[in-house]
Parts: sequence; C-alpha cells; structure tokens
Amino acid sequence: MRSLSDITKIIIHCSDSEFGDVHLIDQWHKERGFRSCGYHYVITNGVITHGKSYNPDLDGIVQPGRQLREIGAHCKGHNTESIGICLIGRHAFTAKQLYQALPNLILTLGNIGLTADDVYGHRDFSSKPCPNIDTALLRLTLRSLP
Ligand SMILES: [Zn+2]
Repeated sequence: MRSLSDITKIIIHCSDSEFGDVHLIDQWHKERGFRSCGYHYVITNGVITHGKSYNPDLDGIVQPGRQLREIGAHCKGHNTESIGICLIGRHAFTAKQLYQALPNLILTLGNIGLTADDVYGHRDFSSKPCPNIDTALLRLTLRSLP
C-alpha cells in the first residue's frame, strides 16, 4: 500500500486487443502471475467479448481495477508513483474513450492533485509502443478539453 500523495504520474496503456474489459484483463494478468488486474482503471471501447459487434452502451465505461492506494503492475520502474489506465483497443480508440471517459477520469483525479500535465504513455518509459498514441498530442488534447 502507498499514500495517495506518493502518486505523481498517470500512465496510459492500451490493451493491445480489439475487445475486453477489467474482468478479462484481470484474467489475463492472473495468467501472467499478477495478483489481479495491474491497472487502476480500464476504459472500454464498446466490444467486451471477442467476436461481438460494437455496442455504444458499452463504449467509454470507466471500470475500476486496483485501488489507488494499491501499487499497480503496469510500468516497470514506475509503479510506485503512478496510476495505470488501460484503454481497450490496439491502434484505434473511440471518441468516447479519448474525448469523454479519459478526460473525465483525469478531471476526477484532480482530487489527488493530478492534472493533464501528469499524463504519460507507457511508451514514454519503455521501448514498447504502448498505448500506440502520440502522448504529447494526448496531453495537449486533455488540456484543451473542459
Ligand atoms: Zn502498456
């Protein structure tokens, strides 16, 4: 466990899958030996199950994973001071995910002193391309939204 004041970064990931939700990621991460979903939040993209068609009602839902006081398992070397948010998707994300759910979530994290300036992508700390989004552009987008 950690103190909320230890958290200084928000790190964005993608699931590298075209479907999924926090339950599926929980399952995947347990298979990899984690105790549970390594992220603090998962944002759905409207396709929860493989092979199902897009459902707008299931798009942009923010699902809680680990408690914020629980250290995540998502970015080697940066877990103790960060929150991990996973966007379901691979290369394309929905408008609801990027322009509604994510900015709203970042706004609520203002409660613990975090802002759009504290947002990074996994790729900023790793050689992996995750989350397959230009994170400088993402920060700019998040700052420009109300
Ligand atoms: Zn990642």
